[in-house]
Amino acid sequence: ETRFHLPHLTDVYADAGSYPSTFCLRMRTPVNEDFAEGYPSDEKWHGYINNNDRVLLKVIRYSSPTSAGAECIDPNCTWLEQWVHRAGPREKIYYKPENVKAAIVTCGGLCPGLNDVIRQIVITLEIYGVKNIVGIPFGYRGFGKELAEMPLSRKVVQNVHLSGGSLLGVSRGGPNVSEIVDSMEERGINMLFVLGGNGTHAGANAIHDECRKRQLKVAVVGVPKTIDNDILLMDKTFGFDTAVEEAQRAINSAYIEAHSAYRGIGIVKLMGRSSGFIAMQASLASGQIDVCLIPEVPFHLHGPHGVLRHLEYLLETKGSAVVCVAEGAGQNFLEKTNAKDASGNIVFGDIGVHIQQETKKFFKDHGNPADVKYIDPTYMIRACRANASDGILCTVLGQNAVHGAFAGYSGITVGICNTHYVYLPIPEVISYPKVLDPNSRMWHRCLTSTGQPDFV
Ligand code: ATP
Ligand code: MG
Repeated sequence: ETRFHLPHLTDVYADAGSYPSTFCLRMRTPVNEDFAEGYPSDEKWHGYINNNDRVLLKVIRYSSPTSAGAECIDPNCTWLEQWVHRAGPREKIYYKPENVKAAIVTCGGLCPGLNDVIRQIVITLEIYGVKNIVGIPFGYRGFGKELAEMPLSRKVVQNVHLSGGSLLGVSRGGPNVSEIVDSMEERGINMLFVLGGNGTHAGANAIHDECRKRQLKVAVVGVPKTIDNDILLMDKTFGFDTAVEEAQRAINSAYIEAHSAYRGIGIVKLMGRSSGFIAMQASLASGQIDVCLIPEVPFHLHGPHGVLRHLEYLLETKGSAVVCVAEGAGQNFLEKTNAKDASGNIVFGDIGVHIQQETKKFFKDHGNPADVKYIDPTYMIRACRANASDGILCTVLGQNAVHGAFAGYSGITVGICNTHYVYLPIPEVISYPKVLDPNSRMWHRCLTSTGQPDFV
């Protein structure tokens, strides 16, 4: 049995301290000894990316450290610079394609674009010359003994992007990391592409660590799948754009129902466990929302400055109102159950139903009932196929995931930062969920657009 001595983790930014404002990202770079040269030919990729290419994450100069949005690491500094590795094909590759067995796995919940990413990974692997490509069915569970892996080829994936969902299926929970790596060793998998959210990436990073510990020559590369857009440092994640677009249909229906009813109120619950990006963007896009409630901004329902009083005012002045609420908002109003899903995530109470009930009760108690309608389009949105913009994002991310694995990077994930495509070390992007800044210009634009007051 062959054991490989894997390259050391190199802190390529060890000397970056000369710029006090530079936020250093550590990247796992392989040493060059093991590289297979000359595959594939230069024409195939129309030029290579140099390993030392960097993308400037933020280009902004604040006139003072107290400017709105300034988040300088050094309070005396008004420049903010963060550099990350540029993604793309490398001249020297770390695997001989004929020795590669690549596996793809999709975990967590559904998100528009999963099939687009799977498809593009398979196509790009084939262009490198990889013949042995398999799908692991139903998330990490598929590493168990009872489910057979699914052979993948261009022929199999050709049209999968035309429908939503995941060709491979998804799940939560499953075997532990050591069992997963045992299974990978048994199957001879040396490239693993993991599509999933925070939980899945924590798993991918643990698989990467375990492979290093066992000195296996395995590349583990993630593609962040979070419809909520809650991954740090990235401009956006795939599926988010589609979700915002699809949410318009639900919001418009809620508006029509509310507008056509006598004292009508429409409530739409959108995704967003810890961050309100979908709710904010959908509200901004639709122009039909009067109240947008997100997890990052506390609010009261009752009392003189509560949401219900404002709805009463809207019924008096406009005749109807539409509320958009993110699923993670106002969890403090709901009874804690301590229930967890198979992955250990806390199951949230339904804030949409709660607001609907409280609204009905409030207006009934005031002797002037309102006609309250509630729409939860979550599963309809998640199951959509990707829109054009997400389709392109998925294509580029899928290709770059394969380039990253061939370059010898492991424990990384791919993303778009400051409009450029990059590789990031997994721990840097999942240390906590990205949340919306209530002091940001964008949230204030949203408040201007809805016309809502502070509910505290
Ligand atoms: P979603 O955004 O849909 O919630 P997710 O990737 O966060 O996506 P989870 O259900 O939390 O979805 O996790 C997906 C998989 O990752 C599960 O199989 C779970 O067992 C595994 N997982 C979650 N957290 C960890 C962890 N810390 N270490 C190892 N595996 C993990
Ligand atoms: Mg999650």
